[in-house]
Amino acid sequence: MTLTRTEARGLLDRFGIRPKRSLGQNFVVEPNTVRRIAELAGVGLGDRVVEVGPGLGALTLALLETGAEVTAVEIDEVLVDVLEEVAGDHGSLRIVHADAMGVDWESLLGAGPWTLVSNLPYNVSVPLVCDLLDDVPAIVRLVVMVQLEVADRLVASPGDDAYGLPSVKVAYHAEARKVGRVPPSVFLPRPRVDSALVDVVRRPEPLVAADPEVLFSLVRAGFAHRRKMLRGALRGIVDEAGLVAAGVDPTLRAEDLDLAQWAAIAAGVER
Ligand code: SAM
Repeated sequence: MTLTRTEARGLLDRFGIRPKRSLGQNFVVEPNTVRRIAELAGVGLGDRVVEVGPGLGALTLALLETGAEVTAVEIDEVLVDVLEEVAGDHGSLRIVHADAMGVDWESLLGAGPWTLVSNLPYNVSVPLVCDLLDDVPAIVRLVVMVQLEVADRLVASPGDDAYGLPSVKVAYHAEARKVGRVPPSVFLPRPRVDSALVDVVRRPEPLVAADPEVLFSLVRAGFAHRRKMLRGALRGIVDEAGLVAAGVDPTLRAEDLDLAQWAAIAAGVER
């Protein structure tokens, strides 16, 4: 069971909800889409799933249908009320009224493994994925629907236009791939752009052994001036000789470097 377009419209009307763009409220009203996401996530009986932004509950219902235990974190109080009505009596659902960017995940989730399955709000999708990868090892996999442009940033490789700090961060912690495209027509209201599904699987260990603080301060500095050569972009942090010692050509740009090269530079930098 999940929500049809008519049922979703009915809920919006009855609760007097006008979707808020500031909270990225584009609700999926196409049952096949939420079932496809639940299927891709591969979750089933007894698996623990965390959903950020359950909204009207379409994806939540599809996840519950698999037999998974779902913890749903929603910022908007009126949508918490809707969810209580739509699925509140389901024994496997825990509804949490909170801002996902401020949740104490460790005490909410405890030990893993958890899979995050979400149609993420646009406004927080990149920082949320990065923060969860950094800080919440109990979440071992993230299957997320995001705007296509965000998906490209999460999975980009050196040399791609979309390659940046989030791509390096995702590659450090996980293997990520785009696993499907979703048209605006499945949402209410319709967004202007296509969305995509991304499957992010946490690695048992980060891809490189580097001090993450040093590594990501370098990556951040490099991408703050992505068109500058590294010798300029990293001035004050590492000099040209340091780059050469790391085997990195100082005339390259941040967008050219893979994680191993960032780690090689970081190895020569004091914290
Ligand atoms: N999962 C639903 C669906 O697929 O139809 C709704 C997805 S909608 C793109 C994003 C949802 O995230 C909305 O319900 C919105 O209220 C909620 N949201 C936005 N910012 C949030 C935040 N910081 N923490 C928790 N939920 C948030």
